[in-house]
Amino acid sequence: MAASMTAVFFHAHPDDEALLTAGTMAMLAAQGHRVVLVVATSGERGQADLAPGEALGEARIAELYKSAAALGCARVVNLGYGDSGLAPGGGIAEDRPPNAFIDADCEEAARRLAGILTEEKADLLTIYDPAGGYGHPDHVQVNRVGGRAAEIAGTPVVLEATVNRDPLLRGLKLVRRFYPQLDIRAFERAYSPGEEITHRVNVRRFARQKRASMAAHATQATGADTRTLGVMLKVPGPLYRLIFGTEWYVRRGLAPGTRLRHPFEVPPKG
Ligand SMILES: [Zn+2]
Repeated sequence: MAASMTAVFFHAHPDDEALLTAGTMAMLAAQGHRVVLVVATSGERGQADLAPGEALGEARIAELYKSAAALGCARVVNLGYGDSGLAPGGGIAEDRPPNAFIDADCEEAARRLAGILTEEKADLLTIYDPAGGYGHPDHVQVNRVGGRAAEIAGTPVVLEATVNRDPLLRGLKLVRRFYPQLDIRAFERAYSPGEEITHRVNVRRFARQKRASMAAHATQATGADTRTLGVMLKVPGPLYRLIFGTEWYVRRGLAPGTRLRHPFEVPPKG
């Protein structure tokens, strides 16, 4: 591993980095690597006490910078697409903004991200699994655009940030004992099964930074009790480290059963 490498974390909306990759980002920054955070949208159609729209987008980008500072990011970029939103029952919303990320031309969006990857001489890019985690259309688009951008830029390592569904479901069932209103059905087919995971990154030492990153997203973490971040921030410390102490990635094309512990670890030949 070279002394200092560059990792670009590509996310759909502000706060996705807090939930999926914050511990890895804090760890890499603490190890002296350059960490760059790119979001596709400002998340202006997310759930919040503020009405959806420009003011919410501005507030969420300010929160993103706060989160990035807590994690030690060197640079934050917003590609500036419109948040495609989510239909009431999940899936693609009909009333989308004219520049919605899911309506963007994949090739054009990929070229824009590839420009950043080339400029940064990125050694690694994180995207999402093809299902887009829990299935938000913008998250599916992150997989497509990010995968293509890495091809264009020749970025050597692409990791799909995901969640190991098996311990997630166990953890959520525990949380539900304290918060019976938590609906876990959506998680039963979300993310990735344990057998597909190639990277298990232990981030327990960075629980404080990860929690600070989540807390930075105040519009998503306060108010309604049912918002994911709000529920997660109430989880007591020891349980928090248990649930959020590992971050998971899938690198396609590795031999089945590959188990790596660090994003820059070189997989065994075989
Ligand atoms: Zn998102």
